Amino acid sequence: MKRVLITGGAGFLGSHLCDRFIKEGYFVIAMDNLITGDLRNIEHLFKHPNFEFYHHDVSKFIHVPGELDYILHFASPASPIDYLKIPIQTLKVGSLGIHNCLGLARVKKARVIIASTSEVYGDPLVHPQTEEYWGHVNPVGPRGVYDEAKRFQEAMTMAYHTYHGLETRIVRIFNTYGPRMRLNDGRVLPAFIGQALRGEDITIFGDGSQTRSFCYVADLVEGIYRLLLSDYAYPVNIGNPAEITIKQFAEEIIKLTGTDQKIVYKPLPKDDPKQRQPDITKAKEILGWEPKVSRAEGLAITYDYFRSLPKERLYDEANHRDFEKR
Ligand code: UDP
Repeated sequence: MKRVLITGGAGFLGSHLCDRFIKEGYFVIAMDNLITGDLRNIEHLFKHPNFEFYHHDVSKFIHVPGELDYILHFASPASPIDYLKIPIQTLKVGSLGIHNCLGLARVKKARVIIASTSEVYGDPLVHPQTEEYWGHVNPVGPRGVYDEAKRFQEAMTMAYHTYHGLETRIVRIFNTYGPRMRLNDGRVLPAFIGQALRGEDITIFGDGSQTRSFCYVADLVEGIYRLLLSDYAYPVNIGNPAEITIKQFAEEIIKLTGTDQKIVYKPLPKDDPKQRQPDITKAKEILGWEPKVSRAEGLAITYDYFRSLPKERLYDEANHRDFEKR
């Protein structure tokens, strides 16, 4: 039986990856320090004989007994609110954390895939973004801690590939949504749906003309799975090219939730990218992958998930407190 380590395994993407690898017949070890991850995302897996959970911070030395075939490095805060609250940890998990993962991979002779991001393109001057674009990133702005950590992570991964001959894969993930997003992490979809469920106004930052392209999580997981099993070591964009303005997105959410929410406008956060859309030519050619789930379908499933949560979870916060000073 193949064995896979998934860092950030209790997070939004990590937990869906755990599900997928269990379904494919792997032995799955999920690792998470639970700053932004949540055990409720994986509690259904605890009784599974092929699943283990390690409560550990990947920024510290990682010890995993036994063999490993694959390591998926998905541990990281991933929303602008989180970067502001825990900037040092965001930098550490993308630098010290990947170094530990790559070192572990060498010892275990495992293949590594790292979660990179469309944020490596910053506030992009090329549209849509191809993998060849080097980006337009402010290293000292609020997003710098995330963007630069992810860029460093790519560089480190490439160095292990070229210098040590390690098998590595890099996925550049564009905005993704689905069940198990954290309701109060500040990202736009849980923000809008959370506001609808709490009976609050919808907050659009700026005039809402900025664009994003939202990918449903099952499509993303399929792309990651294919990339891991491919023999392509350079970065590949995985995302849904269906681009929409945030204003249109707010209107879709209001329609979906059937509420008469008012839209209120708030200042645009510093360095908020004006546009974002993946060019997925590479993923199509190399992986035969493209997204299958429309926004209407994906949003309906996601809304049902949030609606089914106990009411007190509408006010959940992440467990930042314990880590704030580290
Ligand atoms: N956004 C918004 N209202 C909110 C939360 C976010 O208008 O309550 C905007 C945000 O300014 C950005 C877009 O929605 O332009 C997507 O934000 P998110 O944090 O989800 O992702 P990212 O900016 O990293 O793509």
